[in-house]
Amino acid sequence: MPNAPAPRSTNRAPGAPRLDMPVKFLKGIGERRAEQLERLGIRTARDLLWHLPHRYVDASSVTPLVRAEVGQEVACVGRVVAKGVLPTRRGLRIFHAVLRDDSGVLECVWPGQAFLDRTIAVGQTLLVSGPVRFYHGRQLAPREYVVLADAEGEADPLGSGKVLPVYPATEGLSHRIIRSLVERHLEALVALSDDPLPAPLRREAGLPLLPDALRAVHRPASIREAEQGRRRLAFDELLDLQLMLIRARTIAKRQRLGVAFEVKRDLTTRLKRSLPWELTPDQQRALREITGDMTAGERMHRLLMGDVGTGKTVVALFAMLLAVENDFQAALMAPTELLAEQHAVTLGRLLEPLAIRPELLLGRQTAAEKNAVRGRLATGQARVVVGTHALMQESVSFHRLGLVVIDEQHRFGVEQRAALIGKGAAPDVLLLTATPIPRSLALTHYGDLDVSTLRERPPGRGSVRTGVRAASQREKVLKFVRHECGRGRQAYVVLPVIEESERADLRAATTMAQALAARWPELAVGLVHGRLKPDERDATMRRFRTGEIQVLVATTVIEVGIDVANASVMLVEHPERFGLAQLHQLRGRIGRGAEESYCILLADGPGMDRLRAFAATQDGFRIAELDLAERGMGDLIGARQSGGFELRHARLPVDDDLLARARELATRLIAADPALQRSEHQPLRERAISRYPRAVELFRVG
Ligand code: ADP
Ligand code: MG
Repeated sequence: MPNAPAPRSTNRAPGAPRLDMPVKFLKGIGERRAEQLERLGIRTARDLLWHLPHRYVDASSVTPLVRAEVGQEVACVGRVVAKGVLPTRRGLRIFHAVLRDDSGVLECVWPGQAFLDRTIAVGQTLLVSGPVRFYHGRQLAPREYVVLADAEGEADPLGSGKVLPVYPATEGLSHRIIRSLVERHLEALVALSDDPLPAPLRREAGLPLLPDALRAVHRPASIREAEQGRRRLAFDELLDLQLMLIRARTIAKRQRLGVAFEVKRDLTTRLKRSLPWELTPDQQRALREITGDMTAGERMHRLLMGDVGTGKTVVALFAMLLAVENDFQAALMAPTELLAEQHAVTLGRLLEPLAIRPELLLGRQTAAEKNAVRGRLATGQARVVVGTHALMQESVSFHRLGLVVIDEQHRFGVEQRAALIGKGAAPDVLLLTATPIPRSLALTHYGDLDVSTLRERPPGRGSVRTGVRAASQREKVLKFVRHECGRGRQAYVVLPVIEESERADLRAATTMAQALAARWPELAVGLVHGRLKPDERDATMRRFRTGEIQVLVATTVIEVGIDVANASVMLVEHPERFGLAQLHQLRGRIGRGAEESYCILLADGPGMDRLRAFAATQDGFRIAELDLAERGMGDLIGARQSGGFELRHARLPVDDDLLARARELATRLIAADPALQRSEHQPLRERAISRYPRAVELFRVG
């Protein structure tokens, strides 16, 4: 993803440096360097300017070597005066290096990293950071090291007592070379950069000029200054994203032709009467929001977000019936055949009192079956249909499609969604997701949608008790699992890897399945993982659902949304290998019946605190916040696969305030100038498009 502002037309003299010229035309960069830079994605002068430090070393935070105390985390700088590889009795080879500074010496050790002997040399100045421990004396075990200077006599870059930027580097191109290249060209390149943000808006937001921010990030006088620069870049990135999302939202919610739903209190009211329970306050609120959208002149483009078991399906069904009682058809699309079948069964049960039979359309049906369903959809005889992406094929046409519900929407690509949505004149769209995320993330991932959330769970359902146990208690835990199965329950056993060969230090699903089958010959043990063919996996899942299999050993592939009410035990091995949001997703497989359910995390070593925090709550939004705080936003919901957007400069939740400001400004800009055509907005439009090429369509003028 390009990260720099879009090319700007300039009337500078020919031959003068331009931001879009290849880096090799910059002084000091030849063919070979240009090739190396290319490996870092740096092709143009602009790319070099936007290759930003990923960390800083602050001279004031460096600990003198003699003051590094056992038990502390420190960062130290010293010159290598001795080094070598030492074998240990256990056969582990340890690389060690002795550092010296003005205060004295300290030994650094890298267990199992003998290869460092080839890269670290006597005479180099190293920056090392990590914990200090005691082992025949004080030792620092660096988690990270950076070569600051190569040979004795080379100036110590920290000598001047400033903040040192450290750049992402690559083979043959150290961060020092990059630093000196940037240093050499910084002023000239910054001078070529304009600020696309109109000055009044920039001042209103209290942000520095873009060129100043770039200078601050590359060459800060203090960490604080670097951070201020970063925040400007973060704001721009968030603004571009919000401009795109809000523009997408206005387009998606465009006026629709001919679809005007009215609240008829016919089928919807009959469904309400037939339910044995009341809707929860959250469900009622979501339904009010959905009804509001569906009866409005614009088309609905809404996401319903709530943990597994919060009752999204029923809410979606009300929306479907609102369409149906207005003589429109409603479709529910699920990401897998298994889930589609399950939905068809659930809807079939709920719709029985209303004498509506949902149709089912799956890829694996026979041609005759599919033809029959397609025929009933085309004539309008079929009013409610559930299916997989088979629903989107061109051969499927609807009589009058009024509402599309898409379950686990992040499993579908944007294009797939668009294909189904394109089937009606302009059907309303309701997306469901069982992956709650904090509000700030929802604004970046789903900023083009309106969002309704279900936070509370309906009463009267079994809860899940989560326990963290030490691996030494495995025997006891397995006895418990066996005991529960003896009472007719079913259990999931989840492992992080498929085969032992992937990671010798981790328990693997295949070995575990064999071990459990041998241990419990009287139980049927099944195995599912990502390398099985989908139909094999589905077959095993079906046998688990029917109760033929009692113990299902699995990797994380067990389907989101799979509903086996009788499965009330889950054992997770190596829970420290999973993100908290992922553990929560897994835990959602149980607690779906009336029975008390148990989730047992069998953990070893560090990270028990986070697991206990996880065990203490069942609130998916709370867990998503913990997860975000723990890992940053990177792959919280699999940003990349889900069509989400990767942010390079912004850090959430730290920059939540910037996000709010960017959202507010983007809303104002798009309201005043929808395609950003005004001359003062052109630079913003160009940059948003260069950063998010998909936005070209959105901002097409005319
Ligand atoms: P989700 O799709 O969000 O995972 P479901 O819609 O499958 O949740 O609902 C989970 C279970 O809770 C279903 O068995 C459903 O019938 C039941 N349920 C839904 N709403 C309520 C309610 N208001 N009160 C009691 N039970 C409910
Ligand atoms: Mg569901």
